[in-house]
Amino acid sequence: MKMRWITDIEADRQLCLHCRKLHPLTVRVCDRCGEPVHQRIPHSIPVTWSLTVAAIIFLVPANLLPMMIVKSIAGEDAGTIMDGVIYFLEHGEAGIGIVIFTASIFVPFFKLTVLFYLLLIVHFGWRRRALFGLKLYRIIHFIGKWSMLDIFVVALMVGIVQFKNLATIVTGPAAIAFMLAVLMTMFATEHFDPRLMFDKEISKKPETKQHEGIDHG
Ligand SMILES: [Zn+2]
Repeated sequence: MKMRWITDIEADRQLCLHCRKLHPLTVRVCDRCGEPVHQRIPHSIPVTWSLTVAAIIFLVPANLLPMMIVKSIAGEDAGTIMDGVIYFLEHGEAGIGIVIFTASIFVPFFKLTVLFYLLLIVHFGWRRRALFGLKLYRIIHFIGKWSMLDIFVVALMVGIVQFKNLATIVTGPAAIAFMLAVLMTMFATEHFDPRLMFDKEISKKPETKQHEGIDHG
């Protein structure tokens, strides 16, 4: 006989995401750890969509506007993140260049691409891709713990260039856009409920289902 798994919605249960205790639907606050309990993160999809789109928008000026403005006797020079990467590659500091490229360009784009894909899985109900989506979610959730590192690396890049050139360097407008993009991506990942990818038709409106559950219970 083939084993069949059922979701918490089908079983009328909800899991505390903080301490992993399983509760009946009537519970609002976890009696073990005191955290609020929801069957699904409330408004997960609209909030994740909004934050993801906002992060994508902020990533455009973050990459196109100057990240640093170099002021020297020779005049004023502005450079984007990519200019910084190229600067280090050309000056024999490939290691630093690769670190900056990974933290400031590759990782933010990767995280947003994954979030976008996960949202599409939920939106179109691609349940066959849910397991793959979960793996991707775990990766970005794991990387997300070091989100502040992206900002730190950019700050470090400005510092290194300043040290090497002995010129006055100020952060450009891209720095704020980049910081906002990183923060939005971080909040979007936190708000996304990966369980939604495994839900069937009935759970398209998990909050409604939750209240129905309370009436029964
Ligand atoms: Zn708990």
